[in-house]
Amino acid sequence: MSLIQEIHKRKTFGIIAHPDAGKTTLTEKMLLFGGAIKTAGAVKSNKIDTATKSDWMEIEKQRGISVATSVMGFEYKGMKINLLDTPGHQDFAEDTYRTLTAVDSVIMVIDCVKGVEIQTEKLMEVCRMRNTPVICFINKLDREGRDPYELLDEVENKLNISVRPLSWPISMGKSFKGVYNLYDKQLNLFSPSQRKVSDDRITIEDLSDPRLDNYIGTTLSNQLRDDVELIEGVYPEFEVSEYLQGKVAPVFFGSAVNNFGIQEMLDTFIKIAPTPKTRSTDQREVNPEESQFSGFIFKIHANMDPKHRNRIAFLRVCSGKFERNKPYNHVRGTKALRFSNVTSFMAQDKEIVDEAFPGDIVGLYDTGNLKIGDTLTEGENLHFKGIPSFSPEIFREVVNKDAMKTKQLEKGLQQLMEEGVAQLFTFEIGSRKVVGTVGQLQFEVIQFRLKNEYNATVDFVPMNLYKACWIYSKDRKKLDEFIRSKQRHIAKDKDGKWVFMAESKAWLQMVQDNFPDISFHFTSEY
Ligand code: GDP
Repeated sequence: MSLIQEIHKRKTFGIIAHPDAGKTTLTEKMLLFGGAIKTAGAVKSNKIDTATKSDWMEIEKQRGISVATSVMGFEYKGMKINLLDTPGHQDFAEDTYRTLTAVDSVIMVIDCVKGVEIQTEKLMEVCRMRNTPVICFINKLDREGRDPYELLDEVENKLNISVRPLSWPISMGKSFKGVYNLYDKQLNLFSPSQRKVSDDRITIEDLSDPRLDNYIGTTLSNQLRDDVELIEGVYPEFEVSEYLQGKVAPVFFGSAVNNFGIQEMLDTFIKIAPTPKTRSTDQREVNPEESQFSGFIFKIHANMDPKHRNRIAFLRVCSGKFERNKPYNHVRGTKALRFSNVTSFMAQDKEIVDEAFPGDIVGLYDTGNLKIGDTLTEGENLHFKGIPSFSPEIFREVVNKDAMKTKQLEKGLQQLMEEGVAQLFTFEIGSRKVVGTVGQLQFEVIQFRLKNEYNATVDFVPMNLYKACWIYSKDRKKLDEFIRSKQRHIAKDKDGKWVFMAESKAWLQMVQDNFPDISFHFTSEY
């Protein structure tokens, strides 16, 4: 198969949801459809249960699970689909952001009882930043949920994206009868089953067909006729190009646990979802069809085996063909790297692969050379953009509790930060080290892992900080001046970039007013 054929076969997407909306269940059903797994129950949730969040074993277990389930490949109707799971828990939001840089589109799961939840909103913001095409799956229709019109309005308003239903539910909860496929004009009747993978479809081209009344009764038939008329009147025709630009989200209704409504979505997904596209670097745009390989690292899992300091770096292939054992240019580093241990992720199995194509995600066994955001190429010095650090929300100073273990602590902190567990800022004055996170849980993970993996003991002392702002000025002198005058509040991030540590919103505003030549950014890429 040619490179172009390989590219056109691939659809790489992320699955996002507020915890409990049904992401794991939907993932599993998609794998069942793809024939990648044979039985339900094979996919493990990577969810961190808040009730057990202080249980360290649980966190360790979760780490293991999230490696196994974070990338899953499967074949469906001749397509190679790569599904990337994202942690729903808000404390791992950065991990999710980074994962979303490696996908070409997203499927978002929404619970029809709860509607749009807070985490969904945050995830959507990230999709919008990157104009990622989104398909919405409204789940749990077998339960008494909210009115579908109301749900669609909520998605539009809270997620700030136009929607276009492509299927429509016939009633809900106990009286749920099925969905009408507005795209193919087919009726799919619901029969609760957690196992079967084929649905009963009836083609009803014309809704005035009296067979409809036989299937779902006159009341519901009339209701459906009215609904479809209303929808076709209110919503403009679905345009794939608008979806691809991230302007319109097609919406499907179904019940993941009952395997219902998923095939409609998958069939549409493989038709409309984007194949790997051109990506931006600091030098130029890179087309996936270029013969020379390029790719970037978006995720690292370290110390899976405490006896060996090995780590798995997740590489997204962006162009050309990636080959095992071939030396590649490590753009940030000084020496070429070659990888003999390369795994692909098919369903829940890992297997050694010799080659990979644009859109694919492979795991590289690495001994500590790679960092999140690193680019690998066949020679050219490029750097893929789009993996920024975001200002953390919570800041704590690192206090070493065991002076004998200073080296271990430094090494541990450095490695955990390279893995992207949290962000480290080092103050210019006194070299005080501050860890910034999105949630409390991250501190617990760091503390635990430093002890367990590096034998270092730390305390975290809360700091009263509002945001870390990456600072910039066209005028180098002005920037130096600013850094000098605000020295006590200046730190460097992991890459040595200058950061202003703002104590409050009001104070930041004042500083911004006083220094109009300096720009302040809440992300490291601006
Ligand atoms: P995740 O946190 O988004 O991965 O959610 P899960 O897939 O673990 O699902 C959360 C809960 O919702 C589980 O108890 C599922 O069995 C249940 N669930 C998932 N899909 C459906 C559905 O279609 N209907 C109903 N009633 N429950 C569902």
